[in-house]
Amino acid sequence: MGNHTERIYLSPPHMGEREQQYIAEAFATNWIAPLGPHVEGFERELAGYVGSNGALALSSGTAGIHLALRLLGVKQGDKVFCSSLTFVATANPILYEGAEPVFIDSEPETWNMSPLALERAFQEAEQNGHLPKAVIVVSLYGQSADMDPIKAICDRYGVPIIEDAAEALGTTYKGKGSGSIGKFGIFSFNGNKIITTSGGGMIVSDDLDALHKARHWATQSRDQARHYQHSEIGYNYRLSNVLAGIGRAQLEILEERIAIRRAIFDRYVEELSQVPGLAFMPEAEFGRHTRWLTTLTVDEAQTGVSAVEIVDALAEANIEARPVWKPLHLQPLFEGCTYYPHQPEESVSERLFHTGLCLPSGSSLTESQQTRVIDAFIQAVNK
Ligand SMILES: *Cc1c(COP(=O)(O)O)cnc(C)c1O
Repeated sequence: MGNHTERIYLSPPHMGEREQQYIAEAFATNWIAPLGPHVEGFERELAGYVGSNGALALSSGTAGIHLALRLLGVKQGDKVFCSSLTFVATANPILYEGAEPVFIDSEPETWNMSPLALERAFQEAEQNGHLPKAVIVVSLYGQSADMDPIKAICDRYGVPIIEDAAEALGTTYKGKGSGSIGKFGIFSFNGNKIITTSGGGMIVSDDLDALHKARHWATQSRDQARHYQHSEIGYNYRLSNVLAGIGRAQLEILEERIAIRRAIFDRYVEELSQVPGLAFMPEAEFGRHTRWLTTLTVDEAQTGVSAVEIVDALAEANIEARPVWKPLHLQPLFEGCTYYPHQPEESVSERLFHTGLCLPSGSSLTESQQTRVIDAFIQAVNK
């Protein structure tokens, strides 16, 4: 049984000082009804922050992926290449459109999409005369995928990239913001993300016409007319003005939040260095890893316990840790889908799933809470 100490969460929301002020502003001006000045402000400020021409605020990151697929014309029977090591939200919108996901493995250096696996997938697709309509590249846990080689391959085949940067706001790749490199970039402001609006998302792009079209779809595809007139299928996907107010305040302190998460990571590395067999997720030289979550793998032969045993031991101490994402090609939902491993005999995402875990990394984590996590971790290993 767990003890009665306070629960430590993986990545809880962390509000700053200005959120209430922005919400109050929305109330004072009665901009409660969905759209309003905070929505426009949040879009402008986020696009500026990541370095894209424009942005569209949405009710979730999943909605953003869905609209990006629609903008790229993904339909029934089309194929979409997609990172396998990710949260199911990355691939669900492929199914919404009746298209077929083809899963691409990770590489060991970044834990993100393997250019080797992607290349093989494209070669086979070309041979079969069935190229994908889009490639969804995920940047996981705060680190960018190695975009240059991935983009070179996609460009060679003329297939656009959707960057799922839901976990990578503030992440950089060779000086560019994650999300600004693909044709479309997607962010999430779900409660566990690095900043949150309690729920929300954003799609960014340099293609303002495409964003304009997505904006139309996201508001029930209402045509210009006095009466309610609709010629296309639409969705209710917009973010409310109240939540956008929270998002603006959160964006103002994003850089501080990143610094704190990186400091938490550094402390874990330092204090757990005495434990044999641990390997923290590497930080590639090409950019900034925000360390949204501290993740590591455990070599059971050296450490003496498995990642899952450590997760369970932490749960006993009322601490929320999690295994690394279960690859989508192993999910019952996607049974039968094609999968391209990093090397024909080496599946990196499966190894990461079986040996990896995520530690509490929220920017509100206190030093003493972190000490509790470290102590419980060491105790689990020495049991
Ligand atoms: C959170 C997340 C999403 C979905 O975002 P929502 O805002 O929850 O819809 C998509 N992809 C990844 C990798 C995520 O972590």
